[in-house]
Amino acid sequence: MHVGQIAICQYGDIMLRNREQKMDDPVLLLNANYEPLHVCTTRRALGLLVTGKAEMLHNGRGLIRTVRLSIPKPSVIRLGYMVKRPRPRVKLTKHEIFRRDHYTCQYCGMKAKGLTIDHIIPRYRGGEHSWSNLVTACPECNRKKGGRTLHEAKMSLINTPREPQATAFYLFGSYLNYHDLWRQYLAGW
Ligand SMILES: [Zn+2]
Repeated sequence: MHVGQIAICQYGDIMLRNREQKMDDPVLLLNANYEPLHVCTTRRALGLLVTGKAEMLHNGRGLIRTVRLSIPKPSVIRLGYMVKRPRPRVKLTKHEIFRRDHYTCQYCGMKAKGLTIDHIIPRYRGGEHSWSNLVTACPECNRKKGGRTLHEAKMSLINTPREPQATAFYLFGSYLNYHDLWRQYLAGW
């Protein structure tokens, strides 16, 4: 039988048994130069492995059983070719601003409930929707500052707000609680 055909048969078997084998479990996908690219599902990782587009770097998660054979369940895989892409950037969202600011009001330093986003220079005064003009604020500080500038409100910030660097730890660090062996692949990117 042709190698490609075997691959397709195996993949077909995998698809059939998908439900009981947790095929949605996350797998860290690395570029050919080991740069972490993103996190994909086990299903997609197996597709890349079976078609020879990627190699397994770590398994240790038991086996995926098909009708004919057992395949180690992947945890980290590496593409056999380079994917070129622009340097990743963190998307400017409410959630990412809270995360950058460690869920802490940037005026009083409290981890209050009902956190809000404050425009340092108010919108109607020409304040931009940007990393350097948006900070996390507790409802009380936001109310206190109102539509004024820092100077007018006599308030100051704990940290200078900047765009967070999209390092591998920043992008994928939340997975480390459950996938600590990924740590070595995130360092330095
Ligand atoms: Zn506050």
